[in-house]
Amino acid sequence: MTNDEVLKIYEETQALLKGHFRLSSGRHSDRYLQSALVLQYPDKAEKLCRALGEKVSPLKPQTVLSPAMGGLFVGHELARALGIRHVFTERNKDTDAMELRRGFSVQPGERVFAVEDIITTGKSVRESYQVVRAMGAEVVGVGCLIDRSGGENIFDVPVKYLASLKVESWDEKDCPLCKQGIPVVKPGSRAKF
Ligand SMILES: [Zn+2]
Repeated sequence: MTNDEVLKIYEETQALLKGHFRLSSGRHSDRYLQSALVLQYPDKAEKLCRALGEKVSPLKPQTVLSPAMGGLFVGHELARALGIRHVFTERNKDTDAMELRRGFSVQPGERVFAVEDIITTGKSVRESYQVVRAMGAEVVGVGCLIDRSGGENIFDVPVKYLASLKVESWDEKDCPLCKQGIPVVKPGSRAKF
């Protein structure tokens, strides 16, 4: 799949919106990305993850790992595409640390591929793979459906992503859309469904 084909599926499902948004950070942007809105359709999730799987397959992972919540569906579908299992980490509410719970385990030397829906800073997925690395697993790569990191090398393992998108954001006082008098909306409030 090409970059444009991936972004088109996001746009069709309102998972990628163009407009004037106030993000949760308080910054303003002309784009809003919400993978849950595309992954709510299993056929689209399957198609995207099969395409990502073709890129990941040469790394020969034995297990897919993802951080909950954002990485759950992409992790599960990627594992299906690769014919391997999927485990996930969750953040401990008290300590804020990522943990492998629910009886999940990895073996020393097990080849693990870590995946997230969208990577911006990579914080969650990095914390996730550091958990299994500390248990002796071999992290063979990191991936996502849409990379927003701007192509910066933010991981110490190979990176595989399906598409990339640079999303600009501004402080309210610098926002060009505010200067044009375009009303700002909270993401999600424009959803048609
Ligand atoms: Zn604005």
